[in-house]
Amino acid sequence: MNKIFIVSNQLPLKQIIQALEQLAPPSLQESYDNSGLITGNPEQMIQKAILTLDCTEAVIEEAIQVQAQLIIAHHPIIFSGLKKLNGSTYVERTVIKAIKNDIAIYALHTNLDNMLYGVNHKIADKLGLQSTRSVLKPLYNQLCKLHTYITEDKADELRNALFKAGAGQIGHYSECSFNIIGEGTFKGDGQSNPALGRPLVREHARELKIEIILPIWRKNEVLESLRKAHYYEEVAYELYPTLNAHQETGSGLIAELRTPMKETDFLQLIRSKLHTGVIRHSGLTGKFIKRVAICGGAGIFLLSDAIRKEADVFITSDVKYHQFFDADRNILLCDIGHYESEQFTVEIFQELLNDKFPTFAALFSKTNTNPVNYY
Ligand SMILES: [Zn+2]
Repeated sequence: MNKIFIVSNQLPLKQIIQALEQLAPPSLQESYDNSGLITGNPEQMIQKAILTLDCTEAVIEEAIQVQAQLIIAHHPIIFSGLKKLNGSTYVERTVIKAIKNDIAIYALHTNLDNMLYGVNHKIADKLGLQSTRSVLKPLYNQLCKLHTYITEDKADELRNALFKAGAGQIGHYSECSFNIIGEGTFKGDGQSNPALGRPLVREHARELKIEIILPIWRKNEVLESLRKAHYYEEVAYELYPTLNAHQETGSGLIAELRTPMKETDFLQLIRSKLHTGVIRHSGLTGKFIKRVAICGGAGIFLLSDAIRKEADVFITSDVKYHQFFDADRNILLCDIGHYESEQFTVEIFQELLNDKFPTFAALFSKTNTNPVNYY
């Protein structure tokens, strides 16, 4: 349900973008993707936004009608580059119309897919699934480790600042750090003004080494808070890459049904909760469904991961004929339609914006953009 707004606050586009990028950091998008600000100026003031899965000409038309200055879409309208802008394709016409009418377009695509609380989590919610804290194929090279040094009396203040900036989260646990007491030495030069001891003398100090993990996309905020919260003239720190998987980023999701259910009952549950008219599925395996793998959009590349993680069913879309054979009675493979699998993504945008900016108007588009029709 769209909220009814009495007053809608204007916001600078850059403030909205900042909130969206906290939800889905742009660095998490796949190399082929084009998420981010597609048209518009970050300084532009926005009074109303339309939320949609796809940005089409009809959606731009709708934005003009309801006087919205921003369209937030899941799929980027410009995906593989534009060489001309003469209106000969629907992409060109959409972009031209947006620019002529000062409408900004922002897309969160694979960077949102790669977040645990993104598209797949929304599908799991709709199906009433539990244990939804595990991605099917986690991303690597997304975590780094910070080491820094401070006297014990100021350590708590510094740790708090680092936690607040996004460091120290491991799975279900926050505020994680490791702390070791040791002896530091240092000697300031003639221009130095050390917080401890005197310049030009080698000093020895009892210090605490703090080790703390952080996602790479929070690096700038964490380092800024390190510098602000630390009291040394020269803050000593090291940042290391890690080879760990990041438990909350990656493709797909694995979750569980509270009570196992027959395959046909589960197909019926998908139909009713995900409003899909047609489910294309592999042969029934004869097993009960308990563990559910999900990847909204085109997720067949995750089939082997779903089987390896012993999922009983894999819900995705855009499955080709021969790929159904690959299920090989190990798993019930369900193609529920691309649009159908991602239709609830707009709810993620609205929940975020309502939470961050309660008086800002973020409305679901009324345009059905599904290019696939069923007869
Ligand atoms: Zn998609």
